[in-house]
Amino acid sequence: MTTILTDLIQALSTGELRVIDLTQPLGEQTPVIGLPDIFAQSPGFSRETISRYDDAGPMWYWNVLHLGEHTGTHFDAPVHWTTGKDLSNNTCDTLPVEQFIGPACVIDVSHESKSNHDFLLTAEHILAWEEINGKIPAKSWLLLRTDWSKRQGADEFLNLSEDGPHNPGFDPSASKLLAEERDVLGVGVETVGTDAGQAGALDPPFPSHNIMHGAGKFGLASLCNLDQLPPTGSIVIAAPLKIVDGSGSPLRVLAIAPHL
Ligand code: MN
Repeated sequence: MTTILTDLIQALSTGELRVIDLTQPLGEQTPVIGLPDIFAQSPGFSRETISRYDDAGPMWYWNVLHLGEHTGTHFDAPVHWTTGKDLSNNTCDTLPVEQFIGPACVIDVSHESKSNHDFLLTAEHILAWEEINGKIPAKSWLLLRTDWSKRQGADEFLNLSEDGPHNPGFDPSASKLLAEERDVLGVGVETVGTDAGQAGALDPPFPSHNIMHGAGKFGLASLCNLDQLPPTGSIVIAAPLKIVDGSGSPLRVLAIAPHL
């Protein structure tokens, strides 16, 4: 074993480094994004028991799961969006695995998102963050801390009004900067999807999906515990299930981080 890995194991065992779970529980109560009525909807999570130490299987317990690829804490692959559909290696089973691990840059806009549910992160916000924390390195995860994961229940989390959902997200200027000039792995958010609730009205519509996936970048939605990460200095591991031709997948997202 190399010294680096020995040191890592040592730091984890002593608690110098912590493993932080950035994943929401996945179950029947998991909120799912709702689309306008003219579009097909993704179902919520459901399951049926195959057996549970009973006549159907006296010594074992297992279930059949039924859920959309984009349910709960999940990964968006580039093929998810029309802009990324013709890229090579753009599906869950073909993405290069080294792209599932990278340093995390955490931008805290929890204060702004509390007073403005439609808050959009702009390129200016990112440049201001870089003034303090340094330039976002290539192949890093950009995590948007909004504290949205602390909202209780589906109604508060989805935050629907008559004109649709309201939650923070990215201005097109931010997505362009991150994809084209910073070359990040992708973005991670605490909300149900990587775009703002009202992002259908932006230009382009749904800029985080449109621009990031068009550039071969990933999305992580419905993360939590971002308040336990420093602005820089942690590592995020986010590996989707190897679903053949998959557009995304629920996953366990872990961070390795120093104590705050
Ligand atoms: Mn998704």
